[in-house]
Amino acid sequence: MSDYFEEMGWTPLDDGEAPNHLIQMARFLRDYGMWELLGEDAKLPPPASKNAVETLPEIKIEPSETKQCPVCLKEFEVNDKAKSMPCHHVFHQECILPWLEKTNSCPLCRYELPTDDEEYEMYRKEKKRAVEREKDLEYLHNSMFT
Ligand SMILES: [Zn+2]
Ligand SMILES: [Zn+2]
Repeated sequence: MSDYFEEMGWTPLDDGEAPNHLIQMARFLRDYGMWELLGEDAKLPPPASKNAVETLPEIKIEPSETKQCPVCLKEFEVNDKAKSMPCHHVFHQECILPWLEKTNSCPLCRYELPTDDEEYEMYRKEKKRAVEREKDLEYLHNSMFT
């Protein structure tokens, strides 16, 4: 994959240039190792629920801040509309919203927002339970052998 992206000459977007979300997503998948993880026929988690997206706090960009939006790689400008994820990663509204229509997790740290997908929510709960069970076992083990 890397050759393909090098050929694309990845650079921050010029003013007025619309981010190409498919390319952006592909870049994330590669940069964060999700490409391998997903394999060929694996799917991304489902989109974030509308409600979760609508309640994401909008934040004001302060003049003193020189933060970059991780999606389009442009620096935030004062009065830009930005959304703060529960994990405190900040994105342009127009950058993160199309992303969350495709999948529910923060592009940077994969923090997951709730989805409207029942099956996926069940899978998530099950996954969480499995982790908790493992913790219990560890606790049990430790209390018996220490
Ligand atoms: Zn952006
Ligand atoms: Zn995050």
